[in-house]
Amino acid sequence: KGTQAKLLIEKYKIPQISTGDILRAAVKEGTEMGKKAKEYMDAGKLVPDEVVIGIIEDRLKQPDAQKGFILDGFPRTVPQAEALDQTLARMGSKIDHVLSIEVDEEELVTRLTGRRTCKNPACGQMFHIKFNPPQKEGICDKCGGELYQRDDDNEPTVRSRLATYNQATKPLIDYYQKKGLLKSIKGVGSIEDIFNQIVAILG
Ligand code: AMP
Repeated sequence: KGTQAKLLIEKYKIPQISTGDILRAAVKEGTEMGKKAKEYMDAGKLVPDEVVIGIIEDRLKQPDAQKGFILDGFPRTVPQAEALDQTLARMGSKIDHVLSIEVDEEELVTRLTGRRTCKNPACGQMFHIKFNPPQKEGICDKCGGELYQRDDDNEPTVRSRLATYNQATKPLIDYYQKKGLLKSIKGVGSIEDIFNQIVAILG
């Protein structure tokens, strides 16, 4: 989802708002919120709703989000989705599209455990040791930054994240289907193939 969101910001010139990225920045800064969030993240569990809802409410008020935004990794629970609807209604805004990118669970384990991410926060480009390796091992092709493996991209944590998804996030499929907003695509094929399918939906 992050890979596609990064391509979408370039095409639509609107910001990507990723709760995961915001939480990881707080962890790196060592703020109180970051310290608490890290325990949940390393266990593959969700950070409490009130924390992420607060983050999103602040972020949506920023000037760059006034002409649209791509939410990446938010909402992840029904209460988060309800809070989002209320916040957007207050702002006179709404969600236009919800994308579900569907990938087989074992494939996700392979993708996430092989993922490497650029350390440079302004870049954040992602690679995969097998499917999309950088030209030079450990170095970002895009900005020359150092690549790292996220603390939660190890197999036990990935399996826990998948269990969390099935329990807490999957009900959102129904939530957005009922609102007529859900579009599902198969997350197989090249990054470009998937991107083209998404653009065909968004128009
Ligand atoms: P992501 O970068 O989207 O894979 O998120 C990484 C981790 O951050 C998740 O496994 C959660 O622990 C936490 N997180 C990100 N977004 C949310 C959210 N909307 N609600 C709760 N926890 C979140």
